Amino acid sequence: MDRSQTTVEAPRLGEPYLLTPGPLTTSYAVKEAMLRDWGSWDGDFRAMTADMRKRLVDLLGEGSEDFDCVPMQGSGTFAVEAMLSSFIPRDGKALVLANGAYGKRAIETLEYLGRDNVVLDKGDYLPPRGKEVAQILADDPAITHVIAIHCETSSGILNPIEEVAEATSAAGRKLLVDSMSAFGAIELAPSQIRYEAMVSSANKCIEGVPGFGFILARNSELEAARGNCASISLDAHAQWVHMNKTGQWRFTPPTHVVAAFLEALRAHADEGGVAARGARYARNRDVLVAGMRELGFETLLADRWLSQIIVTFFCPADPNFVFDRFYGLMKDKGFIIYPGKLTVVDSFRVGCIGQMDENVMRQVVAAASQSLVEMGVKSAEPPQAALDERAKLAA
Ligand SMILES: *Cc1c(COP(=O)(O)O)cnc(C)c1O
Repeated sequence: MDRSQTTVEAPRLGEPYLLTPGPLTTSYAVKEAMLRDWGSWDGDFRAMTADMRKRLVDLLGEGSEDFDCVPMQGSGTFAVEAMLSSFIPRDGKALVLANGAYGKRAIETLEYLGRDNVVLDKGDYLPPRGKEVAQILADDPAITHVIAIHCETSSGILNPIEEVAEATSAAGRKLLVDSMSAFGAIELAPSQIRYEAMVSSANKCIEGVPGFGFILARNSELEAARGNCASISLDAHAQWVHMNKTGQWRFTPPTHVVAAFLEALRAHADEGGVAARGARYARNRDVLVAGMRELGFETLLADRWLSQIIVTFFCPADPNFVFDRFYGLMKDKGFIIYPGKLTVVDSFRVGCIGQMDENVMRQVVAAASQSLVEMGVKSAEPPQAALDERAKLAA
């Protein structure tokens, strides 16, 4: 079946759409795949794990031959921590490119791990540029690794990963990518973009349910990672060796989540893979942004930096607009939106990922319009301070 020609299905049981960047709205088939039990040691489940690992490596596209997949129990952050603690040697030094909450979390993780680090902090949403990275690496030969966030989900900015990868490899350093909210919808082919390892998780663009993350890394890095990690459960090298030897996870795997994820991977392939998934999300974003702008809303980011994953809108200046009320009114209409994470101005976010298409996004815009009427908000225009803030982006 060519699912790209079909519309996505509405959630059953009167559930609201989750316009959030994971957990997100999944298909009924994905949920249904969880309606049986698997023995973690059994051959059937071992085959499922092997199939999943192979499919994930293949999703990387051209240049994936040197890569292997290490699934890791827990939420996405566990997989990020496994990557950082396993691949950065204890005497290594990391440069973190931060422009939001997930960059900050990477720094915090390195602090916990006791790994030396420096930060290029671009604030709430400005992108790290290749030139800046090149300069920092030239000035500090002790830096061994660069850590980049592919799509920084806190603002929705799509960071210029090509530039960063180029600067990093030109300086002979290693790149680790948090592609949590981008993988599966935005290409990250190793033949185009040089990196040593990346992480993502089950409940983002592949549209599975939460329960594990996965590292996709070069075999040479996985080999060299031996002894780096000070945590037994997060040791990517140990998980990799054990999985390749026995076909099993070292500790209880999230069996039902893996079953659901395999169904999600099949649907992803049926839809047309990374390009088609990314294109659907881009249409979702385009319909959403155009409709919201018609109501007077403005996006935090200029079009150039808008990812197809999640969009940040400024809260309207109209004093009748109260975010908590807006949230409740949207929920009453079947849509769960997401509060903003900016420090300077009030904002909220709307996710474009999950089992939703442009028809759903039109309903989202209609629900927003109706909610404004119910609150007595005449215009959704943002305050001048927000526009001033945004002008910095263009500068
Ligand atoms: C979702 C996400 C994570 C992981 O968050 P968890 O809550 O641990 O799943 C990490 N980085 C980015 C960019 C994300 O979007």
